[in-house]
Amino acid sequence: MAEKTLNVFEIVQQQIKDACDALGETQEVYDILKQPKSCLEVAVPVKMDNGETKVFQAYRSLHNDAVGPGKGGLRFHQNVSMDEVKALSAWMTFKCGVAGIPYGGGKGGVIVDPTTMSQGEIERLARGVITALAPVIGDMKDIPAPDVNTNPQIMAWMVDEYSKLQGQNTLGIITGKPLELGGSLGRFEATGYGVALMTREAFKAKKMDIKGSKISIQGFGNVGRYAAKYLQDMGAKIVAASDVSCCLYDEKGLDIDKLFDYVKEPENKNMIKGFPGAEEMGRDDIFNIEVDALAPCALENAITSENVDNIKAKMVVEGANGPTTPEADKVLNEKGILVVPDILANGGGVMVSYFEWVQNLQNYYWTFEEVQEKQEIKMVKAFNDIFVIMEEYNVSMRVAAFMMSIKRVADAMRARGWVK
Ligand code: NAD
Repeated sequence: MAEKTLNVFEIVQQQIKDACDALGETQEVYDILKQPKSCLEVAVPVKMDNGETKVFQAYRSLHNDAVGPGKGGLRFHQNVSMDEVKALSAWMTFKCGVAGIPYGGGKGGVIVDPTTMSQGEIERLARGVITALAPVIGDMKDIPAPDVNTNPQIMAWMVDEYSKLQGQNTLGIITGKPLELGGSLGRFEATGYGVALMTREAFKAKKMDIKGSKISIQGFGNVGRYAAKYLQDMGAKIVAASDVSCCLYDEKGLDIDKLFDYVKEPENKNMIKGFPGAEEMGRDDIFNIEVDALAPCALENAITSENVDNIKAKMVVEGANGPTTPEADKVLNEKGILVVPDILANGGGVMVSYFEWVQNLQNYYWTFEEVQEKQEIKMVKAFNDIFVIMEEYNVSMRVAAFMMSIKRVADAMRARGWVK
């Protein structure tokens, strides 16, 4: 039977409920966490190249700020909705809690298909969005970052616009900036690097050797391609990779360095289709391939009750946010397939965003190696802490991650006197 149409906000509420119940948390803690503290919806008028004005809907949700200011991406996508932004902001609260960084959760999105716009139009949209969101963001309030279809250049326009509004340089307002404008070394690679580190730790926990292992990666954007690159560096074979255009398969392992160069060729439009030497399949065939680990690094709801039975992996490492539906998650758990949850697996991005913000505030910058070393120490600790909870309470790794995080947020709310 087809799974009912999923509302990502309901999914995250269920995850919070499961973790609160497992922890024996109070109803008042759940009542605060089940919804965002505040949400803003704005209409942003943008002058298009043809002289006409188009109005874009944009959203920003601050889920919780008990631990520290909100933190989370700002995506440009035609399917953005208020519910999606609310759900993603909640995941950010728990992702920051898992990562052990002093932030709450925020998220934003704009309903737009940027592939239909010129660079000038995207710049005017970025500046307009930041002006409209200015009342609710700030380096001690809520700090945006790149997400799907937004990038360092867009962050640079946003920080410039915000700085103009403030009358001073405020580099800490946004992370994921270009290096020349207060960005951090290692930020671009951070999420994919973290996915690779968490896959490595999951192999260790399952007493499997990553060297020579077979891994498939869904999505070859920022997260997927760096996950692939670092996993290849660790000795794994990336036997399959997919994006919107197709799925590539090579049982000997795709040459990820060559695939990196291939997608960068302007005629390939950032897509993997046509990569020489690999077998080409439909993009959803990525889920049918026998591998040791599958890393979904595209969009949410990728693994559903419709395709979960095709998955022949020993573990799923969630690079994307919310790539596994609850029903599919249940099936994976029943089959003993370890799911390294998104709030841990893709937490590297927000961790290095935090490092970027720290560097901006202190105006002192670290080397690439220092950043990656700090990221590795914090992420490996988070993995091990969650693994202990998982075994102690006999729950899934996802529930264990939520439990650890909810406890941190609940403790901060108690310290503030918000709950008993
Ligand atoms: P991106 O836009 O750079 O890449 C997305 C990739 O997914 C592209 O290769 C696209 O072709 C592919 N894709 C889209 N639909 C697909 C489909 N149906 N099948 C196969 N491939 C498909 O985005 P990104 O920054 O890599 O983010 C990917 C996911 O990771 C999102 O869920 C995002 O929220 C999450 N995430 C990103 C970061 C970050 O730092 N970039 C941090 C944490 C989480």
